[in-house]
Amino acid sequence: MQTVIDVMQSQSWFYLLTIGLVSLCVGSFLNVVIYRLPLMMQQQWQTECRLLLADELNSEKNKHAPAHTTDTFNLVKPNSCCPKCKAAIKPWQNIPIISWLFLKGKCATCDNPISVRYPLVEAITAILSLVVAYTFGATEQALLYVAITWVLVALTFIDIDHMLLPDQLTLPLVWLALIASVMGYTIAPSDAIVGAACGYLSLWSVYWLFKLLTGKEGMGYGDFKLLAVFGALLGWQSLLTIILLSSVVGAVIGITLLSIQGKDKATPIPFGPYLAIAGWITMLWGTQLQNSYFNFIGY
Ligand SMILES: [Zn+2]
Repeated sequence: MQTVIDVMQSQSWFYLLTIGLVSLCVGSFLNVVIYRLPLMMQQQWQTECRLLLADELNSEKNKHAPAHTTDTFNLVKPNSCCPKCKAAIKPWQNIPIISWLFLKGKCATCDNPISVRYPLVEAITAILSLVVAYTFGATEQALLYVAITWVLVALTFIDIDHMLLPDQLTLPLVWLALIASVMGYTIAPSDAIVGAACGYLSLWSVYWLFKLLTGKEGMGYGDFKLLAVFGALLGWQSLLTIILLSSVVGAVIGITLLSIQGKDKATPIPFGPYLAIAGWITMLWGTQLQNSYFNFIGY
């Protein structure tokens, strides 16, 4: 690992090129995760409900357990295909961005349009990873932050689509951030542990306060876990910055969407993407942000 990092440090163009290309391919895989993970979760819930129901029915008299699908459906199987004509996606058609441009955004077999979101997710993943790699150089911390950036991209789009931040993505990041701090790549372990707990509990308290006062649910448990990720990664000291920044991000995006879509068409937006964007900005420029803020208030 150390020798790889030494080589990367001496050849920064090679390092950035590697990060850029790897992130493009990861972006292509993130498209699969964004599309399939929520479907896999739904399938699992349905299977569990069926089994539960079958148990109850069996205990009475009905011996006909409802059939459930045994078709494999995960992040690897089945292979991707066109949703309309079911034509298999050929290997070269998986090349990030280029294949979409080459196909002019249409299925090669039936001309069914392929969403511009696929190349967009790939481009966003690559650009954000390059910004991280450029800012932190060839270090363990940079590689950790690049990996976290990848998962944040998937979380953001899944939350936009389904109002859901899967535990399968948030919880591993909490453990990853805690282990990284124990290994000395980030902050002191005590700051990370307190950060994870405070991150979760702060939004949890806001949630219950809001629910008791208004009877509505303003956010979900996934949001608490996502803030726990940032608490574990950046320490409890960064939590206030992230929460304040996420409301700024929310206001900016909200006003932009309102002016584009009009007041009656504006759809409710989940809180997760704001939190992910604010946390990502704080991960990169948190110290500068806090310093300029203290300068501003004359501290
Ligand atoms: Zn097709």
